[in-house]
Amino acid sequence: MNEYDSNRIYDLVSTVGFSKTDIKNEADCFVLNTCHIREKATEKVYHEIGRIRKVFKNLKKPLVIVSGCVAQAESQEMLEREPYIDMVIGPQSYHKIGDLILKYQRKKEKINATEFDVVKKFDELEKISNSQNKISSYLTIQEGCDKFCHFCVVPYTRGPEYSRPFEQIINEANNLVGNGVKEITLLGQNVNAYNFLKNNKNYKLSSLIRELNNIKNLKRIRFTTSHPKDMTEDLISCYGDCKKLMPFLHLPVQSGSDKILNLMNRKHNKKYYLGIIEKLKSINKDIKFSSDFIIGYPGESEKDYKDTVDLIERVGFINSYSFIFSSRSGTPAAKRKLNDLQESKERLKKLQDILKNFQLKNNKIHLDQYCEVLVENKLNDEEKYFGRTKFMTPIIFESDNCKLGELINVKVTSFNHNNLFGFHKINNVKAA
Ligand code: SAM
Ligand code: SF4
Repeated sequence: MNEYDSNRIYDLVSTVGFSKTDIKNEADCFVLNTCHIREKATEKVYHEIGRIRKVFKNLKKPLVIVSGCVAQAESQEMLEREPYIDMVIGPQSYHKIGDLILKYQRKKEKINATEFDVVKKFDELEKISNSQNKISSYLTIQEGCDKFCHFCVVPYTRGPEYSRPFEQIINEANNLVGNGVKEITLLGQNVNAYNFLKNNKNYKLSSLIRELNNIKNLKRIRFTTSHPKDMTEDLISCYGDCKKLMPFLHLPVQSGSDKILNLMNRKHNKKYYLGIIEKLKSINKDIKFSSDFIIGYPGESEKDYKDTVDLIERVGFINSYSFIFSSRSGTPAAKRKLNDLQESKERLKKLQDILKNFQLKNNKIHLDQYCEVLVENKLNDEEKYFGRTKFMTPIIFESDNCKLGELINVKVTSFNHNNLFGFHKINNVKAA
């Protein structure tokens, strides 16, 4: 979502005369769009500002803006802790960035814009075309969260759940496709909680997917991130009959232990989660999964950890994110006694090895097979291309004739943990 927001921030600052530069010491303005999900993410912001300060030691100070969830959470405190920062802008206020820059240039007074103004934000963004001209683009459809998992800052930094108007999203999707986009990933902190009511009709994520499925030049649809509790039957059924919806789902589970899931306030247990996986597999035999795991949640015992490993082995996730619990001030979990860090590190290492093995095993399945690939980029100075399989696996391949944005069949000749490698020639045969 930060990538989507960063692009939209760029669209907005372009309207007041800014353009991108790769030459750091020539920049007049820095916008650091930040994440607050784990503690490290926050510290990174201050380190980056330290680096900017160094570069500009003997130069005219640039305008320094911190946007995103760190700005929201730390707001005034941030302006006081780091005087080099001129402005903080929360994730639901960034539509004002152009006007705020002009205001700062006039008055030279520090600005704190951290209101929750999400409806206005999307109304304003709708007026400015989404300039991403990539093959694969993000499209935010929903923001915020009402679930209040005990470890998570999102309900506090992004605010309550808000679903954008259905037609506004379809217009943005049509504009993206008109600009050459072939794959759209619908975004939300709880993307499958999307629910927009108009004229007594409820529009859900499934309604959006079905509408996008009819856009002629759009080739692939994805969505992220989903909560298991919102994997409703109407959404599951899309995996049976929406050809453009890719058979790959990121479905964060966090833990395989019912005790820990309960302490986390996740509102689902292991059995329920496995039930969703089974339903999806029965409707689409090709579907594969990835997930998020938190290790060392306060109170996690060896048995709880083993329950998580058991869940991983049952589902065989092909790709996942795993983190040690990071205590976030203001969340209920921050009041709990922390687990032993060394023990958590050891568990995380073992868990990541298991996850890596599944990833490797999955990549190996593709060896000597043809995969359907969406061509996304040509790699610098080489006759090589970058694309992704239906399952999001990156693939680097040689080709004598492919075009960006095409769906082609690539023969896989080797692999590592993260990537597949292969080649493409005209008349490559049918993909798996
Ligand atoms: N809404 C999604 C869900 O409910 O599964 C997750 C969105 S959250 C922004 C992304 C991921 O960050 C979570 O799935 C979780 O694994 C991780 N995360 C969030 N808070 C965390 C914390 N305090 N410590 C460690 N990881 C955390
Ligand atoms: Fe955070 Fe996701 Fe839980 Fe919402 S559902 S509180 S975004 S982890």
